[in-house]
Amino acid sequence: MQTIAGFDRIGEENAFAVLARAGELAATGRDIINLGIGQPDFPTPPHIVEAAVRALRDGQHGYTPAVGIPALREAVAADLDRRFGAHVDPGNVIIVPGGKITMFAAILMFGEPGAEILYPDPGFPIYRSMIEFTGARPVPVPIREANGFGVSAEETLALITPKTRLLIVNSPANPCGGVTPKAEIDRLVAGLAEHPQVAVMSDEIYDQLLYDGEEHVTLLSYPEIRDRLILLNGWSKTYAMTGWRLGYSIWPDGLYDKVRKLAVNAWSCVNAPAQFAALEALEGPQDAVAAMLAEFDSRRRLVVEGLNALPGVSCITPKGAFYAFPNIRETGWKAKPLATALLEEAGVATIGGPDFGILGEGYIRLSYANSAENIERALGRMAEFLKRPR
Ligand code: PLP
Repeated sequence: MQTIAGFDRIGEENAFAVLARAGELAATGRDIINLGIGQPDFPTPPHIVEAAVRALRDGQHGYTPAVGIPALREAVAADLDRRFGAHVDPGNVIIVPGGKITMFAAILMFGEPGAEILYPDPGFPIYRSMIEFTGARPVPVPIREANGFGVSAEETLALITPKTRLLIVNSPANPCGGVTPKAEIDRLVAGLAEHPQVAVMSDEIYDQLLYDGEEHVTLLSYPEIRDRLILLNGWSKTYAMTGWRLGYSIWPDGLYDKVRKLAVNAWSCVNAPAQFAALEALEGPQDAVAAMLAEFDSRRRLVVEGLNALPGVSCITPKGAFYAFPNIRETGWKAKPLATALLEEAGVATIGGPDFGILGEGYIRLSYANSAENIERALGRMAEFLKRPR
């Protein structure tokens, strides 16, 4: 059967394959500790679940407007104003089924043969996969340990050519946990003035997962790029709602109607009761968010300390998200074989750095969205494994 060429180029997210393999091993009775998949291990806060149940009982069973229920679009705008003082017109907000949909839509909109799209490497693997799907040329922007895994404005700007259509920025970042400092973002935005043909997609899905007093710098606060900025965000990480498939994006006037039409063509609208849950998440009490953050913070310290005590491993302290990205070069292992051996032999699921891009070699990703007890057990197993003669 013939398929269109794009489908031969589409990639995937190895975290899901590792999750499946960890499940298979667990089904045989093995005790597997999963530090692979990036999702909070907490349940969705009960008041949010309750709002969805109430919506179902109240008869919210039909289609909603394709761009989302008006109250939720207004709540998103109000939330961005409250947290960042950013003015967003609810008319520029679209509610979408998950964070991924925004990158799918933005990359589809700008990607075509002959175009170039800049994306972070190491970075969320779907960026590159989708860029390749469209036939555009993926241009990796190096994310370096030496820069605290933040973006370098200078390096990014140097990669822009007349063919560049879209720049993808992600801070706080997956997989490295890096946060790009404000001064660097200022420089990046200033440099973009010389490249008016370049749209920007800012993936800010981890914007509430910041530590050590770091404050999130949203690209929404730069009026000079608002006419070409697409903001990706959602509920998955902040409110422990990965399975609900809920996200939102902000699109500039010139692009909004295109994404609205894509919604009509592809998903009609987001699950109605889920939208009422999303509304409650934004408007209800935020204590659960603070509690999860405090818990992630203490696990972060635990994981970084434990990793740095392992032979051949060094790990800088991540400032955001819930990932550690230790350098494993001195262990003598390549990253992917190490991740596989840790899963198969030590029962610890992690992800090899190369699953996030070429520059991920020499690193593995650990998600510390798991209990402190499991993290300690995993580190113990890794220590034992790495001490074994090979
Ligand atoms: N963006 C980044 C950087 C992510 O790490 C993820 C999920 O891991 C997403 C987007 C996708 O989020 P969602 O599960 O809401 O589609």
